[in-house]
Amino acid sequence: MGRRGQHNLRILMRSKPPHTTRIDNYIIGLEEIRDKLIIISGIRAHRARKEGTRRDVRTHSVLTCAKIASLRASTSYTCLQVKKGIVNMRKAFKYRIYPARKQNIILLHVLAVCRKLYNDSIHDRQVAYEDCRCSLSYCDQQDWLKFADKQGVYGHILQNVLRRVDASFRNFFRRVKNDEDKVGYPRFQGRNRYDSFTYPDPYGTGYKIEGGKLHLSKIGAIRIFQHREIEGKIKTCTIKREGYRWYASFSVELPDSEPKEVKTSVGVDVGITTLATLSDGTVIENPKTQDKYDSKLRKAHKDVSRKKKGSSNQNKQKIVLAGIYRKVRNARKDYLHKASRILADTYDRIIFEDLQIENMVKNHHLARSIHDASWGILISLTTYKAEYAGGVVKLVNPRNTSKQCSVCGCIQSMPLSQRTYRCPDCGAVMGRDHNAAINILNKHVPADCGELTPVEMVA
Ligand SMILES: [Zn+2]
Repeated sequence: MGRRGQHNLRILMRSKPPHTTRIDNYIIGLEEIRDKLIIISGIRAHRARKEGTRRDVRTHSVLTCAKIASLRASTSYTCLQVKKGIVNMRKAFKYRIYPARKQNIILLHVLAVCRKLYNDSIHDRQVAYEDCRCSLSYCDQQDWLKFADKQGVYGHILQNVLRRVDASFRNFFRRVKNDEDKVGYPRFQGRNRYDSFTYPDPYGTGYKIEGGKLHLSKIGAIRIFQHREIEGKIKTCTIKREGYRWYASFSVELPDSEPKEVKTSVGVDVGITTLATLSDGTVIENPKTQDKYDSKLRKAHKDVSRKKKGSSNQNKQKIVLAGIYRKVRNARKDYLHKASRILADTYDRIIFEDLQIENMVKNHHLARSIHDASWGILISLTTYKAEYAGGVVKLVNPRNTSKQCSVCGCIQSMPLSQRTYRCPDCGAVMGRDHNAAINILNKHVPADCGELTPVEMVA
């Protein structure tokens, strides 16, 4: 058991202290656990034999617990942890794939097997803890994967499923440790919730593209539509189901780009009336995507609720509704990609407000508009595009950015309805958002830039 595993164990045991502090008692305690484990696994194996089922994967996990316990008692067991190297920039290329009918069935089968493994391994971790006060690590679970019936699924896909389980538990423990509001215990995934699987190896192992087809190990050659070339070194391939459509997403590694000299800086104020206002006065309109599809969405929702519950007619209507939502989503994403492209190409340093969007959507009057404007996505898209081009994105504290005068610095209250900033002190008059954008730019004091003040950069 590696250090991480022990750490998990400690968190899990917070309510119940370890057996004892004295080392010999500790070993005895562990031996008790081991005995218990062997009994449990014996019962399970017996039951499985009686029912004529294959040896259940869970039996193996409990055996692994026993192994861990005994090995821990002999205190010589160390789990090799994969040391990760330096992470380069990652980028994803997503293409639609068109499986034939038979391939579609195979893909669904792979998803089903992965989902079962995912749920089983969560269950295993629970059982291991509840019955034996042991925490299982990725290595432990991977150990018994070789005994499991893979049902014709490529082995490394299944390893990746275990990695996902491991990641979700690690994130859970991290959130518990940080005392976060929502700790989010890993969930069992329902039939419609689990929709992707990953070939975790570099290009050429398990998958490759040849002659317009994506060759997947143990699945076959699926037609792929590559609307653009892949750049960089392909590291993984993820197959994803979205409704009835299938996509292949390649994660590629790109060399880090050289940071370029900052010549142009801009402050960006994001809003609802206009999506973004820049400190140089440029305005990026808010497309209000959802409003455009409002009547269609309303009608589709009504149609779904009017059909008999669970009937095939209702299911058909649900597909129509999901289709409209997909359109809204794609239209919004398309617009944000274009907006962030303009920002990243035009400016070297882009400054946003560090908004607490989660808190802001608690205001129910604005929640829908805020979701529709998707500032968070705009910021993250701009960030990666800027980084790719050698620029930077910085976040500043949003305090008083719309209340302060950008010329003289005095502060007055500004209700949301007031769209023009009129300074009572210096008499400056400008758009509310423009004023805020200049304040945002001024708030950022670059460490490397002594000779220029932010105000000069605006002019
Ligand atoms: Zn003023």
